Amino acid sequence: MHLARIPRRRYTAGQTPIEFLPNLSAELGAQIYIKRDDLLGLTSGGNKTRKLEFLMADALAKGADTIITVGAVQSNHCRLTLAAAVKEGLACHLLLEERVPGSYDVDASGNNLLYKLLGVSSIRVTPAGSDLAAGMEEIAEEVRQAGGTPYIIPGGGSNPLGSLGYVACAEEILAQTFEMGLPIDHLVTPSGSGGTHAGITAGLTANNAGIPITGISVRPKKEDQEPKIRELATQAARLAGADIDIPAEVVTVRDEFVGPGYSLPTAEMTEAIQLFARTEGILLDPVYTGKTGAGLIAMARAGEFGDGNVLFLHTGGSPAIYHYQQEVLGA
Ligand SMILES: *Cc1c(COP(=O)(O)O)cnc(C)c1O
Repeated sequence: MHLARIPRRRYTAGQTPIEFLPNLSAELGAQIYIKRDDLLGLTSGGNKTRKLEFLMADALAKGADTIITVGAVQSNHCRLTLAAAVKEGLACHLLLEERVPGSYDVDASGNNLLYKLLGVSSIRVTPAGSDLAAGMEEIAEEVRQAGGTPYIIPGGGSNPLGSLGYVACAEEILAQTFEMGLPIDHLVTPSGSGGTHAGITAGLTANNAGIPITGISVRPKKEDQEPKIRELATQAARLAGADIDIPAEVVTVRDEFVGPGYSLPTAEMTEAIQLFARTEGILLDPVYTGKTGAGLIAMARAGEFGDGNVLFLHTGGSPAIYHYQQEVLGA
């Protein structure tokens, strides 16, 4: 693999830190490290920034003047895509899927506030289960009619090109931990639209890193997500120049921390958010990293990590906290 051959914009200066979490580790009886992708560039950081470096370079190469994407009503992906579009001087239209019926509130805080502050070109809201690709194509057609050149970014930026952001992150982790003299024995990542989990899997597998990866699902069922991650990881690896098939045994998804559904609170999520905040001063979010943190905590308490070094991939999302005050405080 040689990612320098693929056009890329830069939205973060340097690398995100890998930090040891001594207080949380003592609390859980495990060796927990964190990869701070919550500190990536663009508005308030988070994992979509890495994917957008490749996706926006492609949009610009294709002469686009307008970006169209889709996400949930409190979508970090939509916020960051909009921020990247602002930086590149492009218009940006958002299609918001109301995954929880009645959840769209035009006056909501969190990411919704930031859509407006960042100057979104338009917001359209669509019910859960509607055809999102068709919805974005409809907007694209309107842009073309008006003389513009649209570029559609899929939900979460999770196509093979976007996933390269996490192939790059895997290589960053290997280089960084080599410098630190820190062998990693287990990596825990959120698994949603899948580009993060797939990219990390492609990057670590193509480098023969031998680091087991656990993807904690925030929405899909294990039996649906595992083959999807495997396929996307294979496509990402090939796009990066590695002629490999990702084997089934390197893809592990755990779906028991989703609770009643996407973005719906669980007691374990609230505990995880409070534990990270009160032991390490680190903010998790209620939709993704809070549930992934709940998975990490459960695995640590069950002794699944032994005395190995665990790397928790923090994918961001903190602006959503301001929309989910009660869930976060458990009040
Ligand atoms: C989108 C998102 C995820 C999930 O990443 P995918 O690549 O969609 O699986 C995790 N955490 C946060 C904060 C996100 O915004």
